[in-house]
Order: sequence, then structure tokens, then C-alpha cells
Amino acid sequence: SGKTFRNDLDPQYKANRPTMPDELRQQIEPLKAIVQGLGVKLLSIQGVEADDVIGTLVERTAGRRPVEVVTGDRDLFQLVDDAAGVSVLYTARGGVRDADLVDESWLVQKYGLASGRAYAEMAVLRGDPSDGLPGVQGIGEKTAATLLENFGSLESIVKAAKAGVKT
Ligand code: MN
Ligand code: MN
Repeated sequence: SGKTFRNDLDPQYKANRPTMPDELRQQIEPLKAIVQGLGVKLLSIQGVEADDVIGTLVERTAGRRPVEVVTGDRDLFQLVDDAAGVSVLYTARGGVRDADLVDESWLVQKYGLASGRAYAEMAVLRGDPSDGLPGVQGIGEKTAATLLENFGSLESIVKAAKAGVKT
């Protein structure tokens, strides 16, 4: 935890999150010791959010061997890339025992989005109140996905809007 470069980009980022309860804070160091005791590598970088550490590791590994990101955080769906062999094991619903295997076909079924890249662009349009990110007013998940399907990318949506194209 602590401030990251994301906070410098946008002071509102996660500004409304409650501070970590002491009961949880006390568990962090023992948990790290347990994980390391089990021989699992731990990586944490001062001033960098875990999502960005994970994204960097995936970027460096993708295409060279299969990568499965185990997480309960939907933000990481943006890393999904069938061609590069990157998928997400999403634990928020079924836990580790019954995790969802998130690949491009799963993203299509669930969101109508064809790639991890499209998921990221949908999230930009939708915003994320829990992170203090406003998104575009009046555009939720469904509208964002439809716009991306029709125009192909966020850049094309912005271009079309500037040119006065009707949706
Ligand atoms: Mn996240
Ligand atoms: Mn987030």
C-alpha cells in the first residue's frame, strides 16, 4: 500500500478508499513470511501499484510461454491475449477452487468485448467509482462495449465524436 505514481497522475485516484483496518494491516508481514516460507517469490516495488508490477511481468513474459494471472481484480482482464498465451484465473466468484478461466471468448460472452485491449478501453469509458475514476458521463459497461464494437477503438470513437458522427 501507500502512494504510487498513479496518485501523481490523478489526485482523485482511490482518494475515497477507507484506510486499511489495523486487523488487516497486522496480517501483511506474517503473510509475506508464510508465502516466502512456501517458496513463492514475492515482488513489490515502492511507488508502484501491484497491478502495474503484474502488467510489467506479463508484458515481459507474454509470447514466450503461457501466462496465467490469478486474481480477483477485474482490472487485470485487460492483460488477456489469446495469441500471446495470456489468460486470467478470476477468483472473485468461485474462489481458487472454482476460478473462471478468462480468455478472449469469455470476454466476448460476458462483456461483448473481443480483447483485453477492448476491456481496458471499455473501463476508460465506464470509469470506476471505487477507484475515483469518473469515466464518461452517461456511458456504462453496455454502451461502452457497443461503441467499441461499432467503432473498433477508443481512438476511433473520439475521432468520430469530434467529426460529429451520429451513433
Ligand atoms: Mn486493480
Ligand atoms: Mn482498479
